[in-house]
Amino acid sequence: MIGILGGGISGLALAVELGARCEVLEKSNRCAGLCETVAEDGFLFDATGPHILFSKDKETLAYIVEVLGENVHQKKRQNRIWFKDRYVKYPFENGLHVLDKQDLYECLLGYLKNPHEGPPQNLAEWAYCIFGEGIADKYLLPYNHKIWKWDPKLTSLDWAARIPRPPMEDVLKSAIGIETEGYLHQLHFYYPKRGGIEALVKAFADRCQERVQLGFEVAEVAKEGQLWRVTSKAGDVRRYATLVSTLPSHELAKIWPDRPQDLDAALGRLRYNGLANVLLGWRGSRDDTTAIYVPDPDVIFHRVSFPGSFSEHCVPPGHAALVAEVTAAPDSELWARSDDAIREDVLAGVEKLGLLRREDLVYQKVIRYPYGYPISDLDYATNVAEMREIVAGTGLHLLGRFAEFDYINADVCIARARALGQRLGGQGAP
Ligand SMILES: Cc1cc2nc3c(=O)[nH]c(=O)nc-3n(C[C@H](O)[C@H](O)[C@H](O)COP(=O)(O)OP(=O)(O)OC[C@H]3O[C@@H](n4cnc5c(N)ncnc54)[C@H](O)[C@@H]3O)c2cc1C
Repeated sequence: MIGILGGGISGLALAVELGARCEVLEKSNRCAGLCETVAEDGFLFDATGPHILFSKDKETLAYIVEVLGENVHQKKRQNRIWFKDRYVKYPFENGLHVLDKQDLYECLLGYLKNPHEGPPQNLAEWAYCIFGEGIADKYLLPYNHKIWKWDPKLTSLDWAARIPRPPMEDVLKSAIGIETEGYLHQLHFYYPKRGGIEALVKAFADRCQERVQLGFEVAEVAKEGQLWRVTSKAGDVRRYATLVSTLPSHELAKIWPDRPQDLDAALGRLRYNGLANVLLGWRGSRDDTTAIYVPDPDVIFHRVSFPGSFSEHCVPPGHAALVAEVTAAPDSELWARSDDAIREDVLAGVEKLGLLRREDLVYQKVIRYPYGYPISDLDYATNVAEMREIVAGTGLHLLGRFAEFDYINADVCIARARALGQRLGGQGAP
């Protein structure tokens, strides 16, 4: 029997792959994890942040669409960047013509007459090499500093590899106002028609629900001869020949008394940010904007997204909604601030952007996720490989975003779950 700790998308996709030979232990009373959709007062908020379903892996994407069945539609990204009191098309290099002439000149000059040759050693150098000083200093680096709460000079190229390089033609066209689109791989995306992104997790759960034990908060993991013994907070005990953890590895270590001695030190070298997000609903009309990116350091959130643009069923008629994302390191002053203080700053920010009036608000909530984004610092690749190797030496399998400590989306979680399922002798999804 195979035990799977955690019933987020990774654990469930693995359970579907493995068939009858496994059991999923999930602490919450429903499966969601980071794909949680908060459903309250007629609003549906993807509360960690906006989730779009896309993939460079066409087979996995087709599988995701198949699992969602009838409950899926395709949408077009309509993102914008709020820069110096105006909206610029996203990504920034595709909206240059709306900038002030001086800003536009500096962006173009930096791009065309770029002294930064590389090879770059970190995110800041990469941004200068690819985009030039204008675009890097005005948008890319302030935005990245804000989301990661980490110096781009100390950020590795692992993250930069995900940012597509714009064709020169697009930058020139965008500078003179000819319409172009960037980041084409996620311009069109899939999303559940109903139920928010959690509907994806639910669709997987529906395929394996008899093997999912809800309300089972794992409180201890231990090796007992050839078996793994898993004990819940309530004292229930399970034994498995094979164990897969999708829990954040930092949390796994806390409930694994006989973990390898060097695991704590390895985990201590892996940095991450939590999210202290604010969900707002108000009387008003929704538009098609999917998200707004905010590099301005004086606004607390780095991005707001609008659930109503993902599906009309995410907001009640005559209302609009947004999720404002605030990243913070677990030991930061920002994370230590009260929910009220964070909500006040978010409200000041959304008013500054002209998104809503306070008197129209009908719903407000602050929601925290201690694990949001793994940080790719300069030693990330070495450190994460070390952590995984230490755990692999015990025979325990790690799977998923914070178990493997990898900045992966749901599509990669699912693809890795299927691959692990095959290695563990799965029969394949029905
Ligand atoms: C801001 C943000 C934006 C994102 N945007 C996208 C996007 O646009 N597209 C996309 O595809 N992906 C996106 N993602 C990524 C996606 O949400 C994750 O990759 C995915 O949800 C991770 O799933 P997981 O199963 O690996 O981990 P999790 O979802 O974290 O699942 C772990 C599970 O373990 C459970 N658990 C924890 N402790 C215990 C315990 N002691 N006992 C039992 N159970 C426990 C948790 O309750 C949880 O259900 C985004 C993520 C974030 C944070």
